[in-house]
Amino acid sequence: VMASMAHLQEEKLRLQGELLGLQEKLAARENDELSCSLQLQGQVESLKAKLLEQAQEIGRLRSELGGTDTEKHRDLLAAENERLRQEMKACEGELRELRQALCRDCAHQQENAELQERVAQLRREAEEVRGRLVELELEVQQKTNRLAEVELRLKDSMAERAEEEERLSRRLRDSQETIASLKSQPQQIKYIIKTVEVESAKVKQALCESQSQNQYLQEQVGMQRQVLKEMEQQLQSSQKTAAQLRAQIMMYEAELERAHGQMLEEMQAMEEEKNRAIEEAFSRAQVEMKAVHENLAGVRTNLLTLQPALRTLTHDYNSLKRQVRDFPLLLQETLRSARAEIGQAIEEVHSTNRELLRKYRRELQLRKKCHNELVRLKGNIRVFGRVRPITKEDGEGPEAANVVTFDADDDGVLHLLHKGKQVSFELDKVFPPQASQEEVFQEVQALVTSCIDGYNVCIFAYGQTGAGKTYTMEGTAANPGINQRALQLLFSEVRGKVADWDYAISVSAAEIYNEALRDLLGKEPQEKLEIKLCPDGSGQLYVPGLTELKVESVEDINKVFEFGHVNRATECTNLNEHSSRSHALLIVTVRGLDRSTGLRTTGKLNLVDLAGSERVGRSGAEGSRLREAQHINKSLSALGDVIYALRSRQGHVPFRNSKLTYLLQDSLSGDSKTLMMVQVSPATKNTSETLCSLKFAERVRSVELGPVSRRAELGSWPSHEHLEVTEGPRGPFLIPLSPGGPQGCRGHTSPSPGQLSSRAASIRRKLQTSG
Ligand code: ADP
Ligand code: MG
Repeated sequence: VMASMAHLQEEKLRLQGELLGLQEKLAARENDELSCSLQLQGQVESLKAKLLEQAQEIGRLRSELGGTDTEKHRDLLAAENERLRQEMKACEGELRELRQALCRDCAHQQENAELQERVAQLRREAEEVRGRLVELELEVQQKTNRLAEVELRLKDSMAERAEEEERLSRRLRDSQETIASLKSQPQQIKYIIKTVEVESAKVKQALCESQSQNQYLQEQVGMQRQVLKEMEQQLQSSQKTAAQLRAQIMMYEAELERAHGQMLEEMQAMEEEKNRAIEEAFSRAQVEMKAVHENLAGVRTNLLTLQPALRTLTHDYNSLKRQVRDFPLLLQETLRSARAEIGQAIEEVHSTNRELLRKYRRELQLRKKCHNELVRLKGNIRVFGRVRPITKEDGEGPEAANVVTFDADDDGVLHLLHKGKQVSFELDKVFPPQASQEEVFQEVQALVTSCIDGYNVCIFAYGQTGAGKTYTMEGTAANPGINQRALQLLFSEVRGKVADWDYAISVSAAEIYNEALRDLLGKEPQEKLEIKLCPDGSGQLYVPGLTELKVESVEDINKVFEFGHVNRATECTNLNEHSSRSHALLIVTVRGLDRSTGLRTTGKLNLVDLAGSERVGRSGAEGSRLREAQHINKSLSALGDVIYALRSRQGHVPFRNSKLTYLLQDSLSGDSKTLMMVQVSPATKNTSETLCSLKFAERVRSVELGPVSRRAELGSWPSHEHLEVTEGPRGPFLIPLSPGGPQGCRGHTSPSPGQLSSRAASIRRKLQTSG
C-alpha cells in the first residue's frame, strides 16, 4: 500500500503538476483567447470605422454625384434654356421692330456673339460635369474593390476563428475525457478531481462566455454584412440614377444643339431680311427726300408770293379792326332807322290788310250774287234722268235686254232703242245705272242748301213703277237716298252758320192717295186733311191738322221716317202696290233768324216720291184699280198743266186741279226751284213707258218758272238785288203747316193778320210783274 501510496502520491504530484501546467495552459489559453477576442474586437472596430468611412465616402460620393446636384445642374440648364428661348423670342420681336423701323444700327450681332459664347460655355460646363462623373465612377469602382478585399479578409478571420474554436473544443473534449478517466481513479484522487472539476467549471464558464461573445460577434458580422448589402444596393441605384442623368444630359445637349441650329438659321434669315429692308428704306428715303426737296422749293416760291399778300392782309386787318371799333355805333344807327322802317312797313301792311279784308268781303258778296245769277240762268226747273240697272226682277231673255245707251261726250244725252230706231233725248243731266246715290246727291245738294237761304224747293221722282223712284228718294238703310242725305246736309250747314244764325228745322210727312191728303206723322193717319185758305184773306194756304215735327239730329230723322213708314203700312194691305198708287211727300221747313240784322228766312224743301206713271186706265182696268189710275193720271197731268201754265205765263195757273199741285202751289210758283228726277228702266219690256216718261221730261224741261227770289222779311242784304226787302215789323210768310193755324208757325213771332195781308199783297204784286 505504501508503495501504492507513494505511487499515488507521485501520481498526485504529477497530476498536480499536470494540473498546474493545464492551469497555466488554460491561463495562456485565456490570455490567448482574450487577446484573440481583443484582436477580433479591434478588427470589428476597424471594420466599423471602415464602414463608417465607406458610408461617409458613399454620402460624399452621392452628394458629389448625387441627384440633388445633378438635378440642380439640370434645373439650371433648363432655366438657362428657358432664358435662351425667351431671349430668342425677344430677338424675334426686335427683328419685327427692325423690319418696321428699319433701323441702321443694331446690336444683334454683338448679342449673337454673346449668345454663342454662352452656348460654348454651357457646353464646356457640360463637358466638365461629364468628366467629374467619370472620376466618380472610377472612385466607386475602387471602393467596391476594397469592399471585396475587406470581405475576403473577414471570411479568412472567420475561418481562422472557426478552426480555433474547433481546436479548443477538441481540447476541451480531451480534458473532459482525461477528467472522466481521472474520476474513474481511486478516492484519493477524487478531491483533486473535484478541484479540477471546480476549476474546469470556471474554465467552462469562461469558455461559455467567450462562446457567447463569439456568437455576438458573429451576429455583428451578419449585421455588418447586411449593411454592406444595402450599401451595395444603394450604390447600384445611384449608378442607375447617374445613367439616367447622363441620358438626360445627352438629351439636353441634343436640344441645345437643335435650338442653336434654329437660332443660327433665324439669325441668318433676320440678317437677310434686315439687309433687304435697309435697302428698301434707303431707296424710299431717297425718293422721299427728292420729293421733299421739290416741295421745299415750291414752298419757298409760295413764301415769296405770300409775303405781299400778308402785307395786304395786315393792312386789311387793321382797317377791319377800325371798322369793328366803329361798328356798334353804326349798328345802333342802322337799327334805329330799320326799326322805324319796319314800323312804317307794318303800318302799311296793316292798312293794306284792312283794305284787302274789305275787298274780300265785297268779293264774297259779289260771288254769292253771281252764284245766284248762275242758278237763275240755268233755269229754275231742272230735269234729270236716272236709269236703273237691269235687275233680277226684269227676268232673262229678249224682254230683259237693255235699250238705253248714253253719249260718251255729253252727260245730258240718252238714246232709246224703240221699234228698231234710236230716239235721243236731251236732259240737264243723265245718271247711268252705275251712278251711286252719293253722285246723284252731289248734283242735288246746291238746291238743298238754297233752302237755308230762304228758297222753296221741290224735288220730284217721276216714272213708272219699278223704275227706281223710291230708291232715289229714300234709298236703302245701307245706302240712303236724297231724303236722308238732304236732312243731314241741312244739319251740317246750319251748324256751320250757328255763329250768326238761329235755325229751326221741322218735317212733315204726307200721302196723297185717290186725291185724299193724309198725315203720315199724325195720331190718326186715316183722317183726310183739307187744304184751306187762311181766313185773313192773305191768300195763304195751310193744312189744319198736319203734324210738323222739329228735328235736330239724324236720329230724329230716322225716327220720323220709321214712324211714317209704320203709319203708311198699317193703312194698307199691300204696301208695295199702295205706295206705287200714291204720292209720298216729305216737307222740310227751315226757318232762320240772323241775330245781327234781324233778317228772317223761311225755306221749304218738298221731297216727292210720285205715284207710278204707267198708263193703267188704257188697258181696261176696272173698279178701284181704275179709280186709282184715274186719280194718278189726273194729278200727274195737273202737275204737267201747272208747269205748262207757269211756263206760258198764263194769268191763271190751275193749281187747284189736284191736291198735289194745290198743296205745292207755294213751292212751284214764282221764286221756287224745281227738280224733276225722271226714273227709267232700261229693259226692253218697259220701252213704251220709258218713252212716255222721257217725253214728259222733255216737255217739263222747256218750261221756265219766274225769276228766282228769296223770301226775306226783315233787314237788308245789299249784295242780293233780288232780295225782297220791305219796311216795318215782319213775320214769316208761308203756308202754315202747323195745326196752330194761319197766324204763324211755332217758335216764330207771329205777325198780325193785317201785316200778313199787306205782305202777301206785295208778294203777289211782285209775282205778277215777274210773270
Ligand atoms: P219705284 O219706286 O219707281 O217703283 P223702286 O225704287 O222700288 O221703284 O225700284 C225697283 C227695284 O229696282 C228695287 O228693287 C230697287 O232696289 C231697284 N233699283 C232701282 N234703282 C236702282 C239703282 N239705281 N240701283 C240699284 N237698284 C235699283
Ligand atoms: Mg216706289
